Amino acid sequence: MGEEIRIEIESKNKGYPIFIGNSTSALIQKFIEENHKNKKVGIITDDNIKSLYENTISKSLNHLSPYLISIPAGEKNKTRETKERIEDMLLEKKYSRDTIIIAFGGGVIGDLTGFVASTYNRGISIIHVPTTLLAMVDSSIGGKTGVDTKYGKNLIGTIHQPDAVFIDLNFLNSLPKEEFLNGMSEIIKIAITSDKELFEFIEKNSKEILEKEENTLLYIIKRSIELKKEIIERDEEESGLRQTLNFGHTFGHAFENYSEYKIKHGFCISRGIAVESKISVLTENLKREEEKRIVSLLDKFSLPNKINEDINPNKIIDIMKVDKKTRNQKPRFVILKEIGRIKTKNKDFSFEIKEDIIKKAIETPK
Ligand code: ADP
Ligand code: ZN
Repeated sequence: MGEEIRIEIESKNKGYPIFIGNSTSALIQKFIEENHKNKKVGIITDDNIKSLYENTISKSLNHLSPYLISIPAGEKNKTRETKERIEDMLLEKKYSRDTIIIAFGGGVIGDLTGFVASTYNRGISIIHVPTTLLAMVDSSIGGKTGVDTKYGKNLIGTIHQPDAVFIDLNFLNSLPKEEFLNGMSEIIKIAITSDKELFEFIEKNSKEILEKEENTLLYIIKRSIELKKEIIERDEEESGLRQTLNFGHTFGHAFENYSEYKIKHGFCISRGIAVESKISVLTENLKREEEKRIVSLLDKFSLPNKINEDINPNKIIDIMKVDKKTRNQKPRFVILKEIGRIKTKNKDFSFEIKEDIIKKAIETPK
C-alpha cells in the first residue's frame, strides 16, 4: 500500500483527521511538527506494547524527544489511581499546557490517556495511535474517555476529541488472535446494523481476514470507520442515532457485568448480537434466515454466540434494568429489520421489549 487514507470526522465543535496506512510514524512526526510546533510530547503506553515497540518509537519519533510513560497492561489498571500516577509523572517533569499526548495502545490506554488529556491543565491535545483492532475501529473514534470503578466500567470520564488518529495496520501483526477476534466483533456489529455489503464482504473474505491479508483488512477497517463517522456526525442533528452503535450491547454489557468482567468485551458483544438478533426475530422484525446468517458469521470468527444453560436470565435482566442507557428501569434494544438496516420509529432508535421476550431470546438455542 502506498498512499495513506485520510478520513475527516466533521463536527460543530471540533473535527479531526483519521489516517490509515502502514507506516504512519513519519506522518505523526510531520503532523506534530506542523500543528503542535515546540510542544512537549508525552507518549502513554502499556508494558506489553512498550516491550514490543520501544525501539520503533525511539527511532521514528526521536526528533520529538518524547517522554515515554508506561503502565501495566490490562483493564484492571484503567482506574482513577493510574490516572493520578500519570498526571503526577507529567507534573513532576513540569509538562505544561504546551504538551501533546500520544495515546499509544489499545482501548485501555486510549480511554485512560484521553481522560488524562481532558483534565490536565484544564485540557491538552491528544492524538491516538491505536494498536488493537478494537481501538482502531471503535474506541479511538468518537472522543469517549474514561476509567472504571468498583461500581462499573467507564462510569467516570469525559468527551475529549483527539487532534488526530493514526492507524497503522502493522501493529496488528503482533496482536494476539484473541484480541483480533475481540475487535472483529465490533466490525461485524456495525456491518449488521448499517452495511449489508460490508457484511457480505466479511462473509466471503473470512479466511483472508483471519490471515490478516492487508488489503482485506484495510477495507473492513476503513469501512467500519466510515460507518461510525456517518453515525456520529448525523447524531449531532438526529439525536439518538448513536444508539445504533449499541446493537448487541444491552445484553452484551449486562453479560460482561454478570461475568464480573472476566470475559472480554467483544466476546460479550458477540453473545449480545446473537440474543438481540433473536429478539428481532421474536418481535417479527427480522427473518429467521437472516438471524441464521448472523450467527454463522460469528461462528466463522469463533465468536461465542450461545448462552449456557447455567446462566440465570433473570439476573442478567436485572442488571440490564440498572444500565445507564435504560429509561424508567426498562431495558431498550436496537432492533434489526434486516441485515444492514435497523428499526426506527418517531426518531427512536431503540425499543422497550417485554421481559418474557428477552427471557425467551436468552433461553432459546440458536
Ligand atoms: P482493548 O483494545 O481491547 O480495549 P487493551 O488495551 O487492554 O484492549 O489491549 C489488549 C491487550 O493487547 C493488552 O494486553 C495490550 O498490552 C495488548 N496489545 C495491544 N496492542 C498490541 C499489539 N499491537 N501487539 C501485541 N499486543 C498488544
Ligand atoms: Zn463495544
